[in-house]
Formats: sequence, structure tokens, C-alpha cells
Amino acid sequence: PPVIGVLALQGDVREHVQALEQVGARARGVRRPDELDSIDGLVIPGGESTTMWRLAVSFDMLEPLRKCIAAGMPAYGTCAGMIMLADRIEGGVPGQQTVGGIDMTVRRNAFGRQVESFEAPVELAGVDGGPVEAVFIRAPWVESVGESAEVLGHVSRGEQAGRIVAVRQGRLLATSFHPELTGDTRVHRLFVDMVKG
Ligand code: GLN
Repeated sequence: PPVIGVLALQGDVREHVQALEQVGARARGVRRPDELDSIDGLVIPGGESTTMWRLAVSFDMLEPLRKCIAAGMPAYGTCAGMIMLADRIEGGVPGQQTVGGIDMTVRRNAFGRQVESFEAPVELAGVDGGPVEAVFIRAPWVESVGESAEVLGHVSRGEQAGRIVAVRQGRLLATSFHPELTGDTRVHRLFVDMVKG
């Protein structure tokens, strides 16, 4: 089975490890540069992207992560992890940097304070069996994607209908929401299939 690392600087690492193991991958937390050498793919969890960025800098992980992504390592980011995989962010703190890799602009905390947390069904291209029940927690949305990035899903109804919340570019995947919190493992399965592919 593929070995998937979960970036373990901050965030909901354990939930991703469990979801990945449920779909047949071997999963382990990674926080040191040398640990990146022995994995086939990487998940960047939800959490707080400002903290994750600062910890990535102090653990000397930011550049190694950029190199791995540039070298073609598959990666999947949820929520704060989506922010980390975005080439451009809006609403970041001054100086906030990302790993990047996906040609998209992501807006932090976009869904606003009054709806810090909500669930909504999201139909995802490449995921069969009906919409996933997406959990949004102070989530970003995707303002725009460049030509090489493919939109996989939008919010389907309500005030924010049409907002982009799932994107793929090659072997990089990002969602605004947290499939690791729902027990629905279809998005993790998609990612593990991308790693195997
Ligand atoms: N608001 C957080 C951030 O900006 C993301 C929240 C989450 O990952 N659930 O990083």
C-alpha cells in the first residue's frame, strides 16, 4: 500500500491518519524534512494556516515541502491545508506564505464569522455515489483558478451557492471542507487513487 504522510505541525492529523488507513493506505505524521523522503504522498490537514506556516518555517519544512511538490509529490490539503497549497491567498496575515502548487487564489475565513461552521452537500467531480456532506469550519473559498487547475465542486445552495470549494491540479487536490471529520472516506479514496496512479 502507498505510504501517505500527514503534515503534523498542527491541525487534525489523527483524523486524516484514520481516514487514510480506512481506505487501505499506510499513514504517518511527518514533521521533519527527512521524513518527506519516505512517503508517496502528503496530506496537509485542517487547522490554522498562519500557525502552520510559522511552524513550517521554524521546523525548516517550508522549502523542503515546496521542493517535494515541485518534484511531483501528490498532496491533498483540507481547509487550512487548502490554503497551504494555494499559489495566492487573500486575507492572510502580513507576510503569510504558503507552500503553493495549485494555481488558485484562496480567501481565508471567507464564509465569515456568522457562519463559522456549517454543513452542506457538495457534488464532486470524480467522486461517485452522490454528494459528500461537507463540513466547513472557518473555511476558505477559492476566488479564482488558473488554467491548469480544475474545479471539482461548488457550494450547491444557499447564499454562497456557486462558491468553489474543491480543486484539483494534476496530483494536487484541495478542499475547503473536512472529509476526515465525517466518516465518508470517498475523498480520501480519490486521493489515494491519485497517489497510486
Ligand atoms: N481559518 C483557518 C485558516 O485560515 C482554517 C480553518 C480550518 O482549517 N478549519 O487557516
